[in-house]
Amino acid sequence: MVDILSCSLDELRGLFEKFGEKPFRANQVFDWVYNKRAQSLSEMTNLSKGLRERLEKSLAFPVMDIAQRQVSSDGTEKFLLALEDGNYIESVLLKHPDHTTFCISSQVGCPLNCSFCATGASGFTRDLTPGEIVGQVVLMEREQGRPVDNIVFMGMGEPLLNEDSVYKAIDILHEPAGRNLGMRHFTISTAGLPDGIRRLADSGRELKLSISLHSVDDTVRSDMMPVNRKYPLPVLKEALEYYQARTGNRLTFEYALVEGLNDSVDDALRLAEYLKGLKSFVNVIPVNPVNAIHKRPTDAKIQRFIETLKSKRLETALRYERGTDIAAACGQLRQRKGGRAWKGEEA
Ligand code: SAH
Repeated sequence: MVDILSCSLDELRGLFEKFGEKPFRANQVFDWVYNKRAQSLSEMTNLSKGLRERLEKSLAFPVMDIAQRQVSSDGTEKFLLALEDGNYIESVLLKHPDHTTFCISSQVGCPLNCSFCATGASGFTRDLTPGEIVGQVVLMEREQGRPVDNIVFMGMGEPLLNEDSVYKAIDILHEPAGRNLGMRHFTISTAGLPDGIRRLADSGRELKLSISLHSVDDTVRSDMMPVNRKYPLPVLKEALEYYQARTGNRLTFEYALVEGLNDSVDDALRLAEYLKGLKSFVNVIPVNPVNAIHKRPTDAKIQRFIETLKSKRLETALRYERGTDIAAACGQLRQRKGGRAWKGEEA
């Protein structure tokens, strides 16, 4: 059996040819799945019944269920999704007045173990397949009855540790015969893996790249993000310079402000210094506390941090944490249910 959502258009065309069918039938299937939101081959009425029956023997629609759904007072919706093998992932739908952003997962859990992140605390289980990445979007658009506008890889997992599946999923959703979502509507968020950043630059994919920076002090950053021990800040900066020289694209930096850790005026000044020479935008986000150690700074301190960045002519915005009342920080929902013990449990 082939998972239909893991199939590129070319692969599906190949499959139709193997069946002695015209390859353009694959384009029709793409339209059914990604635009008409069909959930089975039997709905694809412009394919003959005989063909549909034959396809059913080789093409499977993977099952993904909403195990739990929470709606925040600010409209943010968080979903716990059950995968076919009993694992769970999370995704979050952010509704804005004029668009929706869908935050999806790339792995079950995450191996990077960032100290402030709920996903890291529950460990790494496995990579998602392309179909499971595409499937989150397909499920949500079906659920909402309308397309989502932007896709961000800020759910569970590190996308640059699952590059093949992530890029295949993006290419499938980008396919003009199907969902036709523009490259600039995808954002990959990374903890900062230099090789992956270079490969993305070389790939020619014009998607948006966001770096989870959080500190420009190697000691502090290594403490918050163990991956920094392997790829310290100067190494990361070289990769970012390469990326920008290659693509010309602006980089977004995520900076989660934690009381007493990375929130001083001096931290802001050093951040501005680190970003010198890079076309950048800094999202300052008061940390969403997932443990007793990482606390949100006072509003006055947050404002002072932002003002310091602005005084250094950095483009920046304060992103208020959304969905805190429903634990929308990635990994929190799964964690509350007991992390990996959730596997196979009744939702
Ligand atoms: N592994 C990728 C993508 C997943 S995390 C990455 O590191 O970018 C998505 C974003 O949420 C990252 O910027 C991450 O640092 C941030 N994040 C995780 N836990 C958080 C928390 N408790 N408060 C604020 N931001 C958090």
